[in-house]
Amino acid sequence: MKKSAWTLLKDKKEDIEKFSKDYISFISFAKTERRVIEFVLERVKEREDLFFVNNRGKSLAIYRKGKRSIKDGIRYVAAHIDVPRIDLKPVAVYDDNQAKVALMETHYYGGIKKYQWVARPISIVGVVLKEDGTKIDIEIGEDENDPVFTFADLLPHLARKAQYTKNLGEAIPGEKLDLLIGSYHEEEENEKENGFNIKKYILDIIKEKYGIDEEDFVSAELEVVPSGRAREVGFDRSMIGAYGHDDRICGYTAFRAIIDAKDPKWPSVVLLFDKEEIGSDGNTGAQSFFLEYATLKIMEHEGIDVNPLVLREILFKSQAISADVSAAVNPDWKEVHELKNAAILGHGIALSKYTGHGGKYGANDAHAEYVALIRKIWNKNNVPWQPAELGKVDEGGGGTVAKYLSRSGIDTIDAGPALLGMHSPFEIVSKADLYSAYLAYKVFFEEE
Ligand code: MN
Ligand code: MN
Repeated sequence: MKKSAWTLLKDKKEDIEKFSKDYISFISFAKTERRVIEFVLERVKEREDLFFVNNRGKSLAIYRKGKRSIKDGIRYVAAHIDVPRIDLKPVAVYDDNQAKVALMETHYYGGIKKYQWVARPISIVGVVLKEDGTKIDIEIGEDENDPVFTFADLLPHLARKAQYTKNLGEAIPGEKLDLLIGSYHEEEENEKENGFNIKKYILDIIKEKYGIDEEDFVSAELEVVPSGRAREVGFDRSMIGAYGHDDRICGYTAFRAIIDAKDPKWPSVVLLFDKEEIGSDGNTGAQSFFLEYATLKIMEHEGIDVNPLVLREILFKSQAISADVSAAVNPDWKEVHELKNAAILGHGIALSKYTGHGGKYGANDAHAEYVALIRKIWNKNNVPWQPAELGKVDEGGGGTVAKYLSRSGIDTIDAGPALLGMHSPFEIVSKADLYSAYLAYKVFFEEE
């Protein structure tokens, strides 16, 4: 059942390379959810055939007219654009008087393996809001002339008790993830009483360079992210390594799909959600009523009677792909996968009837009728795809936004490219799977 996507896409090698190049620029720039929206909106605004609803620059609905009326239902492709990361705490900057360095307090966001974040160059990207509403955009560490920051790890010589005796999840506690941001220190005569302190020195630099006061950190969203650009991986350059594939890769491919779709049969909507990695809560997450609100705005835009029953009927007749990544078989950790039902790198978009954990708990579990329709659409259009489960039945699991779409009555199924090293600072995707996802979402909009 699993065929190489490279075989199926043999004639599309140039398209795959071109698409991959575009994606590499996008994913290298889009280090925060706000930046994803910024990137997408810039392009959406150029197109007169697209209508959009922007939710605070952190989630977005993009609509394109189809041949059918939206009263027949809408085809949604929904992805999340937040990524596991590390945030700065509201009171962040401090100095350590014994170690004589300045640091920032952090609080991680989403499911990270903390050991992957230490001893590597780190950038700070995000926004700071002044009291008067002025927004200061911050990006430090991405330009090669910028300084970077880092979490200094413990040397192996002294890690015997402090780390090696602990299990992996406890070896680096969250409170020890303090970002190293300075060390300049000149002795001064009256230092003990009131003199030089590193914290003040650093805060002065921050104030002078960016116009940020210490209290401004309280109203900021500064994200601590791996520094550097996405890269091609392998002698054959068949893969892309980047921070944030999960799930900006689906956001990007869905956005390209709605733009490139040829005469879409269905009214098409791409939804980009925030906060999936922390449970889809909040008013920019998929558990909010943004889907309903955006759909009502689209109905209004189309001159359709905006009443609650019509909305409910449209949603009930609608269909969705919850576009999110899956796990590719890791050659070194095969024991966590059930190989017959696991996604294989380079074998097309992974279709997951259900996600969840511990006996499908928390899963949407798509209806067989709907799975058959998706299969038909993809096979008809030669889209490389493969059936996939995340891992072995009792091994763990994961969820997506699927269940938050389906509760409005929308038929929903999960599908996205499979990654190696998901949630790591350097996630790996096959270029062929990237392109397969794009094709899969595009024909979903195009086909009956
Ligand atoms: Mn995801
Ligand atoms: Mn995730």
